[in-house]
Amino acid sequence: MKKQVVVIGLGRFGTSVCKELNKLGHEVLAIDRDAERVNGLMDYSAHAVVADATDERSLKSLGVRNFDHAIVAIGDNLQSSVLCTLMLKEIGLKKVWVKARDLQHQKILERVGADRVIQPEHDMGIRVAHHMDSEKLIDYIDLSKDYSIVELVATEKTANKTLNQLNVNAKFGCTILAIKRGEDVNIVPLPSDVIQYGDILILIGHREDLKRFEDKSV
Ligand code: ADP
Repeated sequence: MKKQVVVIGLGRFGTSVCKELNKLGHEVLAIDRDAERVNGLMDYSAHAVVADATDERSLKSLGVRNFDHAIVAIGDNLQSSVLCTLMLKEIGLKKVWVKARDLQHQKILERVGADRVIQPEHDMGIRVAHHMDSEKLIDYIDLSKDYSIVELVATEKTANKTLNQLNVNAKFGCTILAIKRGEDVNIVPLPSDVIQYGDILILIGHREDLKRFEDKSV
């Protein structure tokens, strides 16, 4: 469904969010107080406007209250970011997602009502470290502190074995949810299905169990 999103702050993060939302077919209002940055987004948003996002009257006159969702991507100016978040919540926006510079910034934003706080550099740093830690790891999603979904490449250890032979559930306590082979995704793998070298296995389980499976089996 098409969403109406206001993106405030058109630095690297805001610009990338804006362009991608536009590509996905959503209606984006892009705001920055720097005219050059706004001009750069003209072709990638439904509306691009020069305004100070800490000025409540400007936000109201732009009709920001009618938007479903706001992204505040002002990272360099803590005061502006906090003030803008507070005002968007006061105006009544249901979903206000905000980029934070660090943990202290994050805590303040949560206090003033941000619905989601993102620390892109911090989060990306963690992801890069995980990828470096394991060359077999393609991607992962943390479901909670303990449970994750991971994508692992099948090596010669698992190749040419059936799921039944691997018996991942009984041996490691985790479950193979799907097997990707090129463009094909087998979402209901059967015990008799054979894994090939280079397949991508999608598993769900406790982090420690997934790690044990990764170390011993792939
Ligand atoms: P990144 O780290 O993603 O590149 P920056 O923090 O450098 O992002 O960029 C923040 C953007 O937010 C800048 O383009 C800046 O002009 C804009 N900005 C800062 N304060 C305000 C404000 N009060 N109103 C509108 N835009 C603002």
